[in-house]
Amino acid sequence: MEDTYNVKAIILSRQPRGECDGRAVVYSREAGKLELVARGVKKIKSKLAGHLEPFNLADIMAVRGQKYDYVGAAVSQECFSDIKSDLTKLAAAGRAVKLAQELTKPGVPQVEIFELLKDYLETLEAARKDSEILPAFFTLKLLSALGHAPELSRCLSCAAKIQPGKNRLDLARGGLICAKCAKPGDGNQLAISDDSIKLLRLALKGDFRELAKIKVEKKLAAEIGEAVEKFLRYNF
Ligand SMILES: [Zn+2]
Repeated sequence: MEDTYNVKAIILSRQPRGECDGRAVVYSREAGKLELVARGVKKIKSKLAGHLEPFNLADIMAVRGQKYDYVGAAVSQECFSDIKSDLTKLAAAGRAVKLAQELTKPGVPQVEIFELLKDYLETLEAARKDSEILPAFFTLKLLSALGHAPELSRCLSCAAKIQPGKNRLDLARGGLICAKCAKPGDGNQLAISDDSIKLLRLALKGDFRELAKIKVEKKLAAEIGEAVEKFLRYNF
């Protein structure tokens, strides 16, 4: 008898494998990141192909194999058609699944990361076109789930509670440094506004549905986007 298991998963990517097969990388609720071979998905009449498109949330029955596991059956629960038909949303979703694929280890289930991906895609699907802050919030929450949340309440040098003012985000130490301890000459210490700090704190605590309602000005969104990106690149 075949050894099978069922997972609920977000499809992160799919690549061709040989003449007619595919290789799908998924993030599952039950088993974390998995790589599965999907037989016959390049054939015109393939029923599996549509269910295994990137971003889809699908119920998958996987079959354990000697060299690799493969997809026995798959049924998509959500296809995120609005994301797939909007270039801005497509880019935002594409970046999120790429990060999840790059930064997570195979076979290590973290329900938090599955839920984060699902919430993000659902929020993006329903979002207005100008919610450009959401990708930075996703990155921050993913970093947090991976154990790299920045310290935003106390100074990492003197442990004093962070007050409004000229604080800095220290990439090397992983969080805020107060105005007294800041060394403006240090290239790893970024200037960061009080508004950015407030939003980053909200992002770490809040869920995407609430975060999507916050109206953020372009300049502030750009500042947060840059800070989060530098934080990400410093850690990975
Ligand atoms: Zn300090």
